[in-house]
Amino acid sequence: MVGPMANRDGNGWTACSLGHRHWGRYGAAGLLAYAPCRPGPDQVCVLLQRRSWWGNHGGTWGPPGGARDSHESAVAAALREAEEECALPAGDVSVRGILRDDHGGWSYQTVIAGAPRPLPVHPVSSETSKVSWVPAADVAALDLHPGFAAQWPALREALQPLTIIVDAANVMGSRPDGWWRDRAGAARRLRDQLAGLAAEGLTALPESMHLPALERWFPEFVLVVEGAARPVAATHAAGPRDPGAPGPPDGRVRVVAAPGSGDDTIAALAGDLAGRRLVVTADRRLRERCVAAGASVTGPSWLLGQL
Ligand SMILES: [Zn+2]
Repeated sequence: MVGPMANRDGNGWTACSLGHRHWGRYGAAGLLAYAPCRPGPDQVCVLLQRRSWWGNHGGTWGPPGGARDSHESAVAAALREAEEECALPAGDVSVRGILRDDHGGWSYQTVIAGAPRPLPVHPVSSETSKVSWVPAADVAALDLHPGFAAQWPALREALQPLTIIVDAANVMGSRPDGWWRDRAGAARRLRDQLAGLAAEGLTALPESMHLPALERWFPEFVLVVEGAARPVAATHAAGPRDPGAPGPPDGRVRVVAAPGSGDDTIAALAGDLAGRRLVVTADRRLRERCVAAGASVTGPSWLLGQL
């Protein structure tokens, strides 16, 4: 077996264009994992570690992280570091986004990931003196690593999942690609395109959502089909994707066949799903129902512009 250090070519100091000295020749990445925690249904905790006193910014708190290797994506590096430093099981978290702190010539990418609950963790490496799930409300009071402290206000706004609910009939109807000849085929094409988008991630969300500017968002997609497009719900999305892609290991698209009107199903999902919901439709009446249910709305042209 080849030792873990064999291909660790990112280890080393470098300088950024702001004149700082940084660890990580190809940049660095960290994992900000969050999980629901008490008290209150909307409370979240984040996984932080306290650095050992002898290290860089010793004694401060921040997410687990470290140098990214030349061949590694930010997501792969962040998950690896969280496992090496805190024993966080990488397979049990869902990657939701990446925030990039770009210094010019060097950057730190914080990978945001949701966990189903505060998973058991403990300090593994000698660089880490303590590991803890900290309520988000208590984070700012800690002695934070200065890089993390600067990013925390933006990161805090991204600590919940995002689901994009797509009105298939409305989106298909807005692009004249012959969908009227084969509605199920058109729905299948749209589903496969969404699977690609789920894997690659989105570089922007509608401005009306007033969310921080992440480098990438990794939402879940729900495609709601009705009528002649309903058989698509019984089939599976295109096969396993390229393991070297930037996003999470599973592109997330769920197809829901509306039993009756797609509008009723979409409005119900807009009200019921956890986290943020963005509904893609141009239907004015449906948009009003979704907004009343607490969701954000955008038109098909926004989604088609991302594909
Ligand atoms: Zn710098």
